Amino acid sequence: MSVWDDLQGQPAVVAQLRQASEGDGLTHAWLFTGPPGSGRSNAAKAFAAALNCDQDDVSRRGCDECAACLTILGETHSDVAFVRTEKVTITIAQARELVSTAGNRPASARWRIIVVEDADRMAERTTNVLLKAIEEPTPRTIWMLCAPSPADVLVTIRSRCRAVALRLPPAADVAALLVKRDGVDPAVAERAARAAQSHVGIARRLARDPEARERRLETVRFPLGLRGVTAAVLMAEKLVKIATAEANSSNDERDAAEKAALLATLGAPESGTLPPAMRGQLKQLEDDQKRRAKRSVTDSLDRTLTDLLSFYRDVLIIQMGNAVELVNVELRSELVEFARQSPAETTLARMDAINKARQRITTSNVAPLLAIESMAASLI
Ligand SMILES: [Zn+2]
Repeated sequence: MSVWDDLQGQPAVVAQLRQASEGDGLTHAWLFTGPPGSGRSNAAKAFAAALNCDQDDVSRRGCDECAACLTILGETHSDVAFVRTEKVTITIAQARELVSTAGNRPASARWRIIVVEDADRMAERTTNVLLKAIEEPTPRTIWMLCAPSPADVLVTIRSRCRAVALRLPPAADVAALLVKRDGVDPAVAERAARAAQSHVGIARRLARDPEARERRLETVRFPLGLRGVTAAVLMAEKLVKIATAEANSSNDERDAAEKAALLATLGAPESGTLPPAMRGQLKQLEDDQKRRAKRSVTDSLDRTLTDLLSFYRDVLIIQMGNAVELVNVELRSELVEFARQSPAETTLARMDAINKARQRITTSNVAPLLAIESMAASLI
């Protein structure tokens, strides 16, 4: 086992990062790009672990066994910071704090590493605060920025970073990962990977949670019953409800795993009361989790709309007569019937409406229900 094992379907990226972690081509600023679910932040995390791994033999760095690897993967290493915003954008205050952290030498590790998971969620003036720190780096600090595409980051920043481009892994690779690592039944894994459109995290949840599968199916079936304004308003309400339920269920699972990992790292006793110092750390984690919960509803809404989009994508594929495999194979006959009732131009306009709603929800502070109601009305 090594930290690279989780980066399924990314052999080129693994080779690039491995080489750098062995000292060949290491630089102080990196930009990880790739579509949601391609694993940009996991790649950055694995790279951070390999760079600070305790193994003396460079070829074994990223061993996934030593204290450095384990604490970095568990996000509890004091020299490796992970920045993800709970708000729509990263604030200027957050950016200033990062710059000041970056100025410190690492306490115990080889490198101080700062992973910014949402580098695309920064206003231009916030980015400028980071720019100077990235232009004139402290000798033992490495920046790792993550964003969907290079175009999401200001060119001044981009030009100073080495690019790491992840691709969405093929569904077969995602299915193989679920079978190998999570012991999922191959047929279930294949269906989940396809429905999740290769998003590893979502595929895992669909594979393991029948309720999540149920919620997704309910979402993709919405267009079938969409006749009239009343149905559209109800659909909007229901979509927001589904997204919220989805966010809560994935948070609960992740929160519990993080808590268990933190307690294990701290060496907490299996039962009885925690010593005060540990209680403080646990409280900090719980506060972070609460803030994150709010942001995750927005993310979940975006994914719900991606599911909805997959319905129209399939309709369009049928209308164009393409021989590409459908995402929602189980709805084939309904999709074929739906495709017959309207021209491809209408389908494209509907897909535009969904994408417009996604953009309004993730980049502005418009109330999600309003954005979705206006979207639903244009889907009729
Ligand atoms: Zn290690």
